[in-house]
Amino acid sequence: MRTVVIGGGVAGLVAARRLAIHGDDVVLLEASDRLGGRIRPLDVGGVTVDVGAESFAVRGGVVRTLVDDLGLGDAVREPAGSAWVALADRTVPLPAGGVLGIPSSPVATDVVRVIDGRGAARAYLDRLLPVLKVGRYERLGPLVRARMGDRVLERLVAPVVENVYGADPDEVPVELIAPGLNAAITAAGSLSGAVLGLRAAAPAGAAAQGLEGGVHRLVDALAARVRSLGADVRTDAPVIGLHPHPEGEGFTVVTEREDLEADRVVLAVDGAAALDLLRDAAPALAAMPRPAPAETRAVVLLVEDARLDGAPRGTGVLRAAGRTDVRATAITHLTAKWPWLADRAGRRRHLLRLAYRGHDAVPDAVVLGDAAALLGVDALHAAARVDAPWTDTAPALAPETIALRSALARTTLPPGLTVAGSWVAGTGLASVVAGAERAARPRTS
Ligand SMILES: Cc1cc2nc3c(=O)[nH]c(=O)nc-3n(C[C@H](O)[C@H](O)[C@H](O)COP(=O)(O)OP(=O)(O)OC[C@H]3O[C@@H](n4cnc5c(N)ncnc54)[C@H](O)[C@@H]3O)c2cc1C
Repeated sequence: MRTVVIGGGVAGLVAARRLAIHGDDVVLLEASDRLGGRIRPLDVGGVTVDVGAESFAVRGGVVRTLVDDLGLGDAVREPAGSAWVALADRTVPLPAGGVLGIPSSPVATDVVRVIDGRGAARAYLDRLLPVLKVGRYERLGPLVRARMGDRVLERLVAPVVENVYGADPDEVPVELIAPGLNAAITAAGSLSGAVLGLRAAAPAGAAAQGLEGGVHRLVDALAARVRSLGADVRTDAPVIGLHPHPEGEGFTVVTEREDLEADRVVLAVDGAAALDLLRDAAPALAAMPRPAPAETRAVVLLVEDARLDGAPRGTGVLRAAGRTDVRATAITHLTAKWPWLADRAGRRRHLLRLAYRGHDAVPDAVVLGDAAALLGVDALHAAARVDAPWTDTAPALAPETIALRSALARTTLPPGLTVAGSWVAGTGLASVVAGAERAARPRTS
């Protein structure tokens, strides 16, 4: 069977590997000059750093299984430490033991440090309010507000949901971001009880892991495996048209250089490119309203400063809405989070990654000021700086993307066409890898 995989991000590579294992004759077409998509290593002052994804969720075990299959199991590492949150007037550690920032014990000392006594007293009402009185909430923000109050939502939940998922808690459906949470509330009788139950059911250890050397090693290993299985992997090969054969089976895949005939196609590109390419195969879907693209900028700094040796803010800081003196939405102290990276960077050298909304250039003075303010030191100087602008053309949790995904599920695509990638599977490598494996299932199953 001749199979064309469109897109060489992790979704396309995972699908290509699975299809090549099945024995398909696979051609993978990637538009840009490199594989990996939103996984990307860059050199920052002589150290290779992931400027896109740098960890993967342990949830479901799919990424770990892939990592093991690719012979990278020995390189798996857990982050050292945990993150803090920058409030209007102070920066404090994020409490342990929550789900999406929702605490399991609203009166625990580390929770009170963030939401104060008044916030904790309000959050404790969650334990006393009957589940039926508050009712069932479709969206995360209203649920947390109703059960635990504004402070839990604004100081704990919003910083996590906005920074980690790029989503607005008031818009995001509970079932998509926290599957099982509503059912757990009914069973436990409270939101904090539900969080406690979900945490107890989760495997021990960190919720996310990384790879010594960087997550980009996953891309290199996948590409090597796909090629060794006989697939033809081409970069600088943008697909500009995808036409199902009018008589039924098969497709013509149009690139700038040639037309390829395929029995099967896996479309593993970002949301906007996918909708453009689905114009023939699913015209109603391609005509639906599209989400606003989410533009962000990652800025990685290398600083030589002994004041950071003790990891003053753990693995980094998420900014809460009340904190207005910094523009960065988050900082990751990469060398504190990953000890192997600290070894590579060298003594007293620290790598910091700041996240900004939008693509606009951010002056050095602003970046350094933000880094110093978030890490609680006076002033910082950078030995090197590298920027990476990113665009997510269909953020997985945007309302329009959710509507597109439901419409896709109701659409009968031409036989042999499947769709993968974060806009259909959900943001993050755990969701994307699982979705790509589904998209590459044998056609008969
Ligand atoms: C800054 C940042 C940090 C992140 N951190 C994490 C993290 O720590 N952990 C985590 O799990 N996730 C993280 N993510 C999310 C994760 O990187 C993505 O969910 C995942 O990499 C998406 O993979 P994908 O294959 O669906 O899409 P992409 O990686 O976007 O790949 C799609 C590919 O399709 C190609 N393409 C587009 N159009 C065409 C065309 N017409 N023809 C051929 N090819 C085309 C693109 O060039 C691209 O290579 C992060 C994302 C960003 C931006």
